[in-house]
Amino acid sequence: MTPLHADLSRVRDTLLRGHSFLLTSHARPDGDSLGSQLALAAALRQLGKQVRLINSDPPPALYTFLPDVSTIDIAAAVEEDAEPFDAVVVLECSSLDRPGVAGLKGRQLINIDHHTGNGLYGDINWHDVSACACAEMVFELIDALGAQVTPAMATQLYVAILTDTGSFRHANITARTFEICRRIAQTGINAAEVAAQVYNNGSLGRVRLTGMLLDRMDLQDDERIAVLVLTDAMLVEAGCGADDLEGIVNLPLAARNVRAVIFFKETDDGLRVSLRSKDEVDVRRVAVLFGGGGHPNAAGCTVEHPTPETRGDLVARVATAIADSDT
Ligand code: 5GP
Ligand code: MN
Repeated sequence: MTPLHADLSRVRDTLLRGHSFLLTSHARPDGDSLGSQLALAAALRQLGKQVRLINSDPPPALYTFLPDVSTIDIAAAVEEDAEPFDAVVVLECSSLDRPGVAGLKGRQLINIDHHTGNGLYGDINWHDVSACACAEMVFELIDALGAQVTPAMATQLYVAILTDTGSFRHANITARTFEICRRIAQTGINAAEVAAQVYNNGSLGRVRLTGMLLDRMDLQDDERIAVLVLTDAMLVEAGCGADDLEGIVNLPLAARNVRAVIFFKETDDGLRVSLRSKDEVDVRRVAVLFGGGGHPNAAGCTVEHPTPETRGDLVARVATAIADSDT
Protein backbone atom coordinates (compact mmCIF):
# COMPACT_ATOMS: atom_id res chain seq x y z
CA MET A 1 0.00 0.00 0.00
CA THR A 2 1.33 3.46 -0.82
CA PRO A 3 1.81 5.60 2.30
CA LEU A 4 -0.82 8.26 2.97
CA HIS A 5 0.26 11.78 2.10
CA ALA A 6 0.60 14.27 4.96
CA ASP A 7 -2.71 16.14 4.60
CA LEU A 8 -4.81 13.00 4.38
CA SER A 9 -2.95 11.53 7.37
CA ARG A 10 -3.71 14.63 9.45
CA VAL A 11 -7.40 14.46 8.51
CA ARG A 12 -7.55 10.76 9.28
CA ASP A 13 -5.75 11.07 12.64
CA THR A 14 -7.99 13.93 13.76
CA LEU A 15 -11.13 11.99 12.85
CA LEU A 16 -9.89 8.80 14.53
CA ARG A 17 -8.99 10.69 17.72
CA GLY A 18 -12.22 12.67 18.09
CA HIS A 19 -15.74 11.51 18.94
CA SER A 20 -18.16 14.14 17.77
CA PHE A 21 -18.14 15.88 14.39
CA LEU A 22 -20.13 18.39 12.44
CA LEU A 23 -20.16 17.97 8.65
CA THR A 24 -21.25 20.77 6.39
CA SER A 25 -21.03 21.70 2.73
CA HIS A 26 -21.99 24.47 0.36
CA ALA A 27 -25.28 26.33 0.00
CA ARG A 28 -27.47 25.18 -2.90
CA PRO A 29 -26.15 21.63 -2.52
CA ASP A 30 -25.34 19.46 -5.52
CA GLY A 31 -24.67 15.77 -6.07
CA ASP A 32 -21.04 15.96 -5.03
CA SER A 33 -21.58 18.00 -1.88
CA LEU A 34 -24.45 15.77 -0.70
CA GLY A 35 -22.88 12.46 -1.69
CA SER A 36 -19.51 13.35 -0.12
CA GLN A 37 -21.12 14.56 3.08
CA LEU A 38 -23.43 11.56 3.49
CA ALA A 39 -20.78 8.94 2.71
CA LEU A 40 -18.28 10.45 5.14
CA ALA A 41 -21.00 10.66 7.80
CA ALA A 42 -21.80 6.96 7.30
CA ALA A 43 -18.12 6.01 7.58
CA LEU A 44 -17.70 7.97 10.80
CA ARG A 45 -20.86 6.45 12.29
CA GLN A 46 -19.54 2.99 11.43
CA LEU A 47 -16.53 3.84 13.59
CA GLY A 48 -18.84 4.75 16.47
CA LYS A 49 -18.53 8.53 16.11
CA GLN A 50 -21.30 11.05 16.69
CA VAL A 51 -22.06 12.98 13.52
CA ARG A 52 -24.26 15.99 12.93
CA LEU A 53 -24.97 17.20 9.39
CA ILE A 54 -25.97 20.81 8.76
CA ASN A 55 -26.53 22.58 5.45
CA SER A 56 -28.10 25.96 4.85
CA ASP A 57 -30.27 24.79 1.94
CA PRO A 58 -32.39 21.66 1.51
CA PRO A 59 -31.37 19.06 -1.08
CA PRO A 60 -32.86 19.60 -4.56
CA ALA A 61 -35.82 17.28 -5.33
CA LEU A 62 -33.57 15.29 -7.65
CA TYR A 63 -31.44 14.10 -4.73
CA THR A 64 -34.13 13.14 -2.24
CA PHE A 65 -33.59 9.48 -3.22
CA LEU A 66 -30.06 9.51 -1.75
CA PRO A 67 -29.82 7.17 1.25
CA ASP A 68 -30.02 9.08 4.57
CA VAL A 69 -30.36 12.49 2.92
CA SER A 70 -33.12 13.31 5.43
CA THR A 71 -30.55 13.12 8.25
CA ILE A 72 -29.16 16.50 7.13
CA ASP A 73 -30.44 19.35 9.31
CA ILE A 74 -31.29 22.50 7.38
CA ALA A 75 -30.22 25.51 9.43
CA ALA A 76 -28.60 28.92 8.90
CA ALA A 77 -26.45 28.58 12.03
CA VAL A 78 -25.00 26.09 14.48
CA GLU A 79 -26.82 26.72 17.77
CA GLU A 80 -24.70 28.55 20.36
CA ASP A 81 -25.38 25.78 22.87
CA ALA A 82 -24.62 22.96 20.42
CA GLU A 83 -22.39 20.24 21.82
CA PRO A 84 -18.68 21.08 21.43
CA PHE A 85 -17.69 19.21 18.28
CA ASP A 86 -14.15 17.81 18.16
CA ALA A 87 -13.95 19.14 14.61
CA VAL A 88 -16.05 20.58 11.82
CA VAL A 89 -15.49 19.00 8.41
CA VAL A 90 -16.20 21.46 5.61
CA LEU A 91 -16.54 19.62 2.31
CA GLU A 92 -16.49 21.08 -1.20
CA CYS A 93 -16.12 24.72 -0.08
CA SER A 94 -13.49 27.12 -1.39
CA SER A 95 -14.16 29.55 1.47
CA LEU A 96 -15.87 29.47 4.85
CA ASP A 97 -18.69 31.65 3.47
CA ARG A 98 -19.80 28.93 1.07
CA PRO A 99 -21.79 26.82 3.57
CA GLY A 100 -23.93 29.85 4.49
CA VAL A 101 -23.94 28.44 8.04
CA ALA A 102 -23.03 30.82 10.88
CA GLY A 103 -21.11 29.68 13.94
CA LEU A 104 -18.38 27.64 12.20
CA LYS A 105 -15.51 30.06 12.88
CA GLY A 106 -13.41 29.42 15.95
CA ARG A 107 -13.96 25.67 15.84
CA GLN A 108 -11.35 23.12 14.75
CA LEU A 109 -11.89 23.15 10.98
CA ILE A 110 -11.02 20.39 8.52
CA ASN A 111 -11.21 21.71 4.96
CA ILE A 112 -11.56 19.04 2.23
CA ASP A 113 -12.00 20.44 -1.28
CA HIS A 114 -11.11 20.03 -4.94
CA HIS A 115 -11.97 23.52 -6.25
CA THR A 116 -9.23 25.69 -7.75
CA GLY A 117 -8.54 28.68 -5.52
CA ASN A 118 -9.46 27.15 -2.16
CA GLY A 119 -8.73 29.71 0.58
CA LEU A 120 -7.05 27.14 2.93
CA TYR A 121 -9.17 28.46 5.79
CA GLY A 122 -9.01 25.25 7.84
CA ASP A 123 -6.83 24.22 10.75
CA ILE A 124 -6.22 21.21 8.54
CA ASN A 125 -6.45 21.72 4.78
CA TRP A 126 -6.61 18.89 2.29
CA HIS A 127 -6.92 20.45 -1.14
CA ASP A 128 -6.61 18.33 -4.26
CA VAL A 129 -7.54 19.98 -7.55
CA SER A 130 -6.72 16.78 -9.39
CA ALA A 131 -9.76 15.04 -7.84
CA CYS A 132 -12.67 14.78 -10.27
CA ALA A 133 -15.08 15.22 -7.37
CA CYS A 134 -14.80 15.81 -3.66
CA ALA A 135 -16.18 12.27 -3.39
CA GLU A 136 -12.93 10.94 -4.83
CA MET A 137 -11.13 12.44 -1.82
CA VAL A 138 -13.82 11.17 0.55
CA PHE A 139 -13.42 7.67 -0.88
CA GLU A 140 -9.68 7.76 -0.11
CA LEU A 141 -10.44 9.04 3.36
CA ILE A 142 -12.95 6.25 4.02
CA ASP A 143 -10.25 3.73 3.06
CA ALA A 144 -7.72 5.49 5.27
CA LEU A 145 -10.15 5.41 8.20
CA GLY A 146 -10.56 1.67 7.72
CA ALA A 147 -14.34 1.92 7.19
CA GLN A 148 -16.26 -0.34 4.81
CA VAL A 149 -18.00 1.07 1.76
CA THR A 150 -21.58 -0.17 2.12
CA PRO A 151 -24.05 -0.21 -0.80
CA ALA A 152 -25.69 2.96 0.61
CA MET A 153 -22.33 4.74 0.73
CA ALA A 154 -21.52 3.43 -2.75
CA THR A 155 -24.75 5.00 -4.05
CA GLN A 156 -23.91 8.34 -2.40
CA LEU A 157 -20.38 8.33 -3.78
CA TYR A 158 -21.45 7.22 -7.24
CA VAL A 159 -24.01 10.01 -7.53
CA ALA A 160 -21.31 12.49 -6.49
CA ILE A 161 -18.84 11.27 -9.10
CA LEU A 162 -21.43 10.78 -11.85
CA THR A 163 -22.82 14.30 -11.51
CA ASP A 164 -19.58 16.18 -10.81
CA THR A 165 -17.89 14.67 -13.87
CA GLY A 166 -20.88 15.55 -16.09
CA SER A 167 -21.51 11.81 -16.56
CA PHE A 168 -17.81 11.02 -17.01
CA ARG A 169 -17.10 13.74 -19.54
CA HIS A 170 -15.07 16.36 -17.67
CA ALA A 171 -11.32 16.83 -17.77
CA ASN A 172 -10.45 15.56 -14.29
CA ILE A 173 -11.50 11.95 -14.74
CA THR A 174 -8.52 9.64 -14.39
CA ALA A 175 -7.63 6.02 -13.76
CA ARG A 176 -8.27 6.75 -10.07
CA THR A 177 -11.88 7.72 -10.89
CA PHE A 178 -12.52 4.39 -12.59
CA GLU A 179 -10.71 2.46 -9.87
CA ILE A 180 -13.05 4.03 -7.32
CA CYS A 181 -16.05 3.24 -9.52
CA ARG A 182 -14.86 -0.37 -9.78
CA ARG A 183 -14.88 -0.56 -5.98
CA ILE A 184 -18.29 1.10 -5.92
CA ALA A 185 -19.68 -1.46 -8.40
CA GLN A 186 -18.20 -4.28 -6.33
CA THR A 187 -20.59 -3.42 -3.49
CA GLY A 188 -23.33 -4.73 -5.76
CA ILE A 189 -25.17 -1.48 -6.50
CA ASN A 190 -26.78 -1.14 -9.90
CA ALA A 191 -25.03 1.86 -11.46
CA ALA A 192 -27.58 2.10 -14.28
CA GLU A 193 -30.44 2.32 -11.78
CA VAL A 194 -28.67 5.05 -9.86
CA ALA A 195 -28.06 6.99 -13.07
CA ALA A 196 -31.72 6.60 -14.01
CA GLN A 197 -32.73 8.08 -10.62
CA VAL A 198 -30.59 11.09 -11.40
CA TYR A 199 -31.35 11.60 -15.08
CA ASN A 200 -34.68 9.92 -15.87
CA ASN A 201 -36.73 10.82 -12.85
CA GLY A 202 -37.36 14.56 -13.24
CA SER A 203 -40.69 16.30 -13.59
CA LEU A 204 -42.48 16.88 -16.88
CA GLY A 205 -42.26 20.57 -15.96
CA ARG A 206 -38.49 20.33 -16.12
CA VAL A 207 -38.64 18.91 -19.64
CA ARG A 208 -41.02 21.73 -20.67
CA LEU A 209 -38.78 24.34 -19.10
CA THR A 210 -35.77 22.92 -20.93
CA GLY A 211 -37.64 23.46 -24.18
CA MET A 212 -38.52 27.05 -23.28
CA LEU A 213 -34.97 27.93 -22.23
CA LEU A 214 -33.40 26.49 -25.37
CA ASP A 215 -36.08 28.01 -27.59
CA ARG A 216 -35.23 31.47 -26.23
CA MET A 217 -31.45 30.90 -26.18
CA ASP A 218 -29.53 34.01 -27.20
CA LEU A 219 -26.27 33.48 -29.10
CA GLN A 220 -23.44 35.98 -28.68
CA ASP A 221 -19.82 36.34 -29.74
CA ASP A 222 -20.28 34.82 -33.18
CA GLU A 223 -22.39 31.97 -31.71
CA ARG A 224 -19.63 30.94 -29.33
CA ILE A 225 -21.56 31.99 -26.23
CA ALA A 226 -25.07 30.72 -25.46
CA VAL A 227 -27.06 32.84 -23.00
CA LEU A 228 -30.01 31.29 -21.19
CA VAL A 229 -32.32 33.48 -19.13
CA LEU A 230 -34.74 32.03 -16.62
CA THR A 231 -37.63 34.07 -15.25
CA ASP A 232 -40.17 33.25 -12.56
CA ALA A 233 -42.88 33.51 -15.23
CA MET A 234 -41.22 30.67 -17.15
CA LEU A 235 -41.16 28.50 -14.03
CA VAL A 236 -44.88 29.10 -13.55
CA GLU A 237 -45.67 28.47 -17.21
CA ALA A 238 -43.68 25.23 -17.25
CA GLY A 239 -44.95 24.11 -13.86
CA CYS A 240 -41.40 23.55 -12.67
CA GLY A 241 -39.70 24.23 -9.33
CA ALA A 242 -36.57 26.38 -9.07
CA ASP A 243 -34.80 23.40 -7.46
CA ASP A 244 -35.30 21.28 -10.58
CA LEU A 245 -32.79 22.94 -12.91
CA GLU A 246 -29.59 20.98 -12.39
CA GLY A 247 -27.79 20.14 -15.60
CA ILE A 248 -29.86 22.24 -17.99
CA VAL A 249 -27.07 24.80 -18.20
CA ASN A 250 -24.83 22.24 -19.90
CA LEU A 251 -27.11 21.51 -22.84
CA PRO A 252 -25.97 24.24 -25.29
CA LEU A 253 -22.42 22.85 -25.10
CA ALA A 254 -23.69 20.00 -27.29
CA ALA A 255 -23.38 22.37 -30.26
CA ARG A 256 -19.92 22.17 -31.81
CA ASN A 257 -19.30 25.90 -32.00
CA VAL A 258 -20.67 26.87 -28.60
CA ARG A 259 -17.68 27.36 -26.27
CA ALA A 260 -19.41 28.71 -23.19
CA VAL A 261 -22.84 29.03 -21.60
CA ILE A 262 -24.12 31.78 -19.32
CA PHE A 263 -27.28 31.07 -17.36
CA PHE A 264 -29.00 34.04 -15.68
CA LYS A 265 -31.69 33.85 -13.05
CA GLU A 266 -33.10 36.72 -11.01
CA THR A 267 -33.47 35.69 -7.36
CA ASP A 268 -34.23 37.45 -4.08
CA ASP A 269 -30.48 37.49 -3.39
CA GLY A 270 -29.62 39.17 -6.70
CA LEU A 271 -28.66 37.93 -10.14
CA ARG A 272 -27.63 34.28 -9.98
CA VAL A 273 -25.15 33.33 -12.71
CA SER A 274 -24.01 29.84 -13.73
CA LEU A 275 -21.16 29.50 -16.20
CA ARG A 276 -20.06 26.46 -18.19
CA SER A 277 -17.37 26.07 -20.83
CA LYS A 278 -15.40 23.65 -22.94
CA ASP A 279 -11.73 22.83 -23.18
CA GLU A 280 -9.35 25.63 -22.23
CA VAL A 281 -11.99 28.32 -21.76
CA ASP A 282 -11.64 29.35 -18.11
CA VAL A 283 -14.95 30.69 -16.83
CA ARG A 284 -13.92 30.43 -13.17
CA ARG A 285 -11.81 33.52 -13.79
CA VAL A 286 -14.96 35.39 -14.83
CA ALA A 287 -16.95 34.15 -11.82
CA VAL A 288 -14.16 35.28 -9.47
CA LEU A 289 -14.32 38.81 -10.94
CA PHE A 290 -17.97 38.90 -9.87
CA GLY A 291 -17.37 37.51 -6.38
CA GLY A 292 -17.93 33.82 -7.15
CA GLY A 293 -15.78 30.80 -7.93
CA GLY A 294 -15.87 27.20 -9.06
CA HIS A 295 -13.88 25.18 -11.57
CA PRO A 296 -12.35 26.33 -14.90
CA ASN A 297 -15.22 24.70 -16.86
CA ALA A 298 -18.06 25.12 -14.32
CA ALA A 299 -18.36 28.16 -12.13
CA GLY A 300 -20.92 30.52 -10.70
CA CYS A 301 -21.55 33.74 -8.83
CA THR A 302 -24.36 35.84 -7.41
CA VAL A 303 -24.30 39.54 -8.29
CA GLU A 304 -26.14 41.12 -5.36
CA HIS A 305 -26.79 44.49 -6.95
CA PRO A 306 -26.82 44.05 -10.72
CA THR A 307 -26.84 47.17 -12.91
CA PRO A 308 -28.23 47.39 -16.44
CA GLU A 309 -24.67 46.72 -17.65
CA THR A 310 -24.01 43.60 -15.57
CA ARG A 311 -25.21 41.02 -18.07
CA GLY A 312 -23.36 42.65 -20.98
CA ASP A 313 -20.20 42.86 -18.83
CA LEU A 314 -20.42 39.17 -18.07
CA VAL A 315 -20.84 38.27 -21.74
CA ALA A 316 -17.84 40.47 -22.62
CA ARG A 317 -15.69 38.82 -19.93
CA VAL A 318 -16.62 35.36 -21.16
CA ALA A 319 -15.79 36.45 -24.73
CA THR A 320 -12.36 37.54 -23.48
CA ALA A 321 -11.87 34.17 -21.77
CA ILE A 322 -12.66 32.46 -25.08
CA ALA A 323 -10.28 34.73 -27.01
CA ASP A 324 -7.53 34.09 -24.43
CA SER A 325 -8.02 30.35 -24.69
CA ASP A 326 -7.36 30.53 -28.42
CA THR A 327 -4.00 32.25 -28.07
P1 5GP B 1 -23.44 25.99 -10.36
O1 5GP B 1 -23.43 26.78 -11.61
O2 5GP B 1 -23.81 24.56 -10.62
O3 5GP B 1 -24.22 26.62 -9.25
O4 5GP B 1 -21.95 25.96 -9.84
C1 5GP B 1 -20.88 25.50 -10.62
C2 5GP B 1 -19.60 25.42 -9.80
O5 5GP B 1 -19.26 26.72 -9.33
C3 5GP B 1 -19.71 24.56 -8.53
O6 5GP B 1 -18.47 23.91 -8.34
C4 5GP B 1 -19.96 25.55 -7.44
O7 5GP B 1 -19.45 25.09 -6.22
C5 5GP B 1 -19.22 26.79 -7.93
N1 5GP B 1 -19.93 28.02 -7.53
C6 5GP B 1 -21.18 28.38 -7.91
N2 5GP B 1 -21.52 29.55 -7.35
C7 5GP B 1 -20.47 29.95 -6.60
C8 5GP B 1 -20.24 31.08 -5.76
O8 5GP B 1 -21.06 31.98 -5.61
N3 5GP B 1 -19.02 31.13 -5.14
C9 5GP B 1 -18.06 30.16 -5.29
N4 5GP B 1 -16.90 30.28 -4.64
N5 5GP B 1 -18.27 29.07 -6.07
C10 5GP B 1 -19.45 28.97 -6.72
MN1 MN C 1 -17.48 18.99 -6.58
